[in-house]
Amino acid sequence: MLHSVLDATDRCPCGSGDTYGNCCAPLLTGHRKAPTAEALMRSRYSAFCIGDVPYLLSSWHPDTRPDGLVMDDSTNFLRLVIHDTAGGGPFDQTGYVHFTAYYRSIDGRSGSLEEKSIFVRVSGRWFYVGD
Ligand SMILES: [Zn+2]
Repeated sequence: MLHSVLDATDRCPCGSGDTYGNCCAPLLTGHRKAPTAEALMRSRYSAFCIGDVPYLLSSWHPDTRPDGLVMDDSTNFLRLVIHDTAGGGPFDQTGYVHFTAYYRSIDGRSGSLEEKSIFVRVSGRWFYVGD
Protein backbone atom coordinates (compact mmCIF):
# COMPACT_ATOMS: atom_id res chain seq x y z
CA MET A 1 0.00 0.00 0.00
CA LEU A 2 2.89 2.25 -0.73
CA HIS A 3 1.32 3.43 -3.97
CA SER A 4 -1.16 5.56 -2.08
CA VAL A 5 -1.48 8.05 -4.92
CA LEU A 6 -1.41 6.97 -8.53
CA ASP A 7 -1.82 9.21 -11.54
CA ALA A 8 -3.91 8.14 -14.49
CA THR A 9 -0.74 8.08 -16.60
CA ASP A 10 1.14 5.80 -14.20
CA ARG A 11 1.68 2.15 -15.07
CA CYS A 12 -1.22 0.12 -13.72
CA PRO A 13 -0.12 -1.91 -10.68
CA CYS A 14 -1.90 -5.01 -12.01
CA GLY A 15 0.80 -5.40 -14.66
CA SER A 16 -1.46 -5.27 -17.68
CA GLY A 17 1.01 -2.93 -19.36
CA ASP A 18 -1.65 -0.26 -19.72
CA THR A 19 -1.95 3.00 -17.81
CA TYR A 20 -3.77 3.06 -14.51
CA GLY A 21 -6.30 5.50 -16.02
CA ASN A 22 -7.15 3.08 -18.85
CA CYS A 23 -7.02 -0.09 -16.79
CA CYS A 24 -8.05 -0.45 -13.14
CA ALA A 25 -8.81 3.15 -12.12
CA PRO A 26 -12.27 3.34 -13.75
CA LEU A 27 -13.20 0.06 -12.03
CA LEU A 28 -12.06 1.25 -8.62
CA THR A 29 -13.96 4.50 -9.00
CA GLY A 30 -17.09 2.70 -10.21
CA HIS A 31 -17.08 4.34 -13.64
CA ARG A 32 -16.78 0.99 -15.37
CA LYS A 33 -17.81 -2.55 -14.51
CA ALA A 34 -15.24 -5.32 -14.83
CA PRO A 35 -16.06 -7.06 -18.14
CA THR A 36 -14.42 -10.31 -17.07
CA ALA A 37 -13.49 -12.15 -13.89
CA GLU A 38 -9.84 -11.55 -14.74
CA ALA A 39 -10.45 -7.80 -14.99
CA LEU A 40 -12.09 -7.87 -11.56
CA MET A 41 -9.21 -9.90 -10.18
CA ARG A 42 -6.72 -7.37 -11.58
CA SER A 43 -8.67 -4.44 -10.16
CA ARG A 44 -8.78 -6.10 -6.74
CA TYR A 45 -5.02 -6.59 -6.87
CA SER A 46 -4.63 -2.88 -7.71
CA ALA A 47 -6.97 -2.07 -4.82
CA PHE A 48 -4.71 -4.10 -2.52
CA CYS A 49 -1.71 -2.15 -3.83
CA ILE A 50 -3.24 1.22 -3.04
CA GLY A 51 -5.17 0.15 0.06
CA ASP A 52 -8.66 0.69 -1.34
CA VAL A 53 -10.62 -1.24 1.29
CA PRO A 54 -14.10 -0.04 0.23
CA TYR A 55 -13.50 -1.39 -3.28
CA LEU A 56 -12.21 -4.72 -1.96
CA LEU A 57 -15.35 -5.12 0.12
CA SER A 58 -17.79 -3.95 -2.55
CA SER A 59 -16.32 -6.37 -5.11
CA TRP A 60 -16.62 -9.28 -2.65
CA HIS A 61 -19.73 -11.44 -2.90
CA PRO A 62 -22.08 -10.65 0.04
CA ASP A 63 -22.20 -14.35 1.03
CA THR A 64 -18.47 -14.51 1.74
CA ARG A 65 -17.61 -10.84 2.33
CA PRO A 66 -15.92 -10.14 5.67
CA ASP A 67 -17.29 -7.41 7.90
CA GLY A 68 -14.15 -5.43 7.42
CA LEU A 69 -10.58 -5.59 6.23
CA VAL A 70 -7.45 -4.27 7.85
CA MET A 71 -4.78 -3.51 5.31
CA ASP A 72 -1.29 -4.55 6.23
CA ASP A 73 0.87 -1.43 5.84
CA SER A 74 4.03 -3.47 6.07
CA THR A 75 3.39 -5.43 2.89
CA ASN A 76 4.23 -3.97 -0.48
CA PHE A 77 2.80 -5.86 -3.44
CA LEU A 78 5.29 -6.03 -6.26
CA ARG A 79 3.81 -7.99 -9.11
CA LEU A 80 0.81 -9.98 -10.21
CA VAL A 81 1.13 -12.99 -12.48
CA ILE A 82 -2.00 -14.55 -13.94
CA HIS A 83 -1.34 -18.21 -14.70
CA ASP A 84 -4.66 -19.34 -16.06
CA THR A 85 -8.32 -18.44 -16.28
CA ALA A 86 -11.47 -20.42 -16.95
CA GLY A 87 -14.90 -19.04 -17.70
CA GLY A 88 -15.28 -15.52 -16.41
CA GLY A 89 -16.42 -14.04 -19.71
CA PRO A 90 -19.42 -11.85 -20.49
CA PHE A 91 -21.61 -14.93 -21.09
CA ASP A 92 -20.43 -16.96 -18.10
CA GLN A 93 -21.90 -17.06 -14.63
CA THR A 94 -18.73 -18.24 -12.94
CA GLY A 95 -15.05 -17.79 -13.49
CA TYR A 96 -11.73 -18.94 -12.09
CA VAL A 97 -8.46 -17.06 -12.02
CA HIS A 98 -5.24 -18.76 -10.98
CA PHE A 99 -2.63 -16.20 -9.99
CA THR A 100 0.42 -15.47 -7.89
CA ALA A 101 0.90 -12.14 -6.16
CA TYR A 102 4.48 -11.34 -5.17
CA TYR A 103 5.15 -9.05 -2.25
CA ARG A 104 7.88 -7.74 0.00
CA SER A 105 7.36 -6.87 3.62
CA ILE A 106 8.85 -3.83 5.28
CA ASP A 107 11.60 -5.91 6.89
CA GLY A 108 12.79 -6.96 3.44
CA ARG A 109 11.33 -10.46 3.36
CA SER A 110 9.71 -11.37 0.10
CA GLY A 111 7.01 -13.89 -0.50
CA SER A 112 4.18 -14.83 -2.74
CA LEU A 113 0.54 -15.73 -2.52
CA GLU A 114 -0.82 -18.24 -5.02
CA GLU A 115 -4.55 -18.65 -5.27
CA LYS A 116 -7.24 -20.05 -7.52
CA SER A 117 -9.98 -17.52 -7.00
CA ILE A 118 -13.62 -18.14 -7.73
CA PHE A 119 -15.81 -15.41 -9.15
CA VAL A 120 -19.53 -15.26 -9.86
CA ARG A 121 -21.52 -12.88 -12.00
CA VAL A 122 -24.69 -11.47 -10.46
CA SER A 123 -26.90 -9.11 -12.48
CA GLY A 124 -24.08 -8.51 -14.91
CA ARG A 125 -21.53 -7.73 -12.22
CA TRP A 126 -18.55 -9.88 -11.26
CA PHE A 127 -17.87 -10.61 -7.60
CA TYR A 128 -15.01 -12.32 -5.83
CA VAL A 129 -16.24 -15.37 -3.87
CA GLY A 130 -13.09 -16.94 -2.45
CA ASP A 131 -10.56 -19.61 -3.22
ZN1 LIG B 1 -4.93 -2.71 -14.07
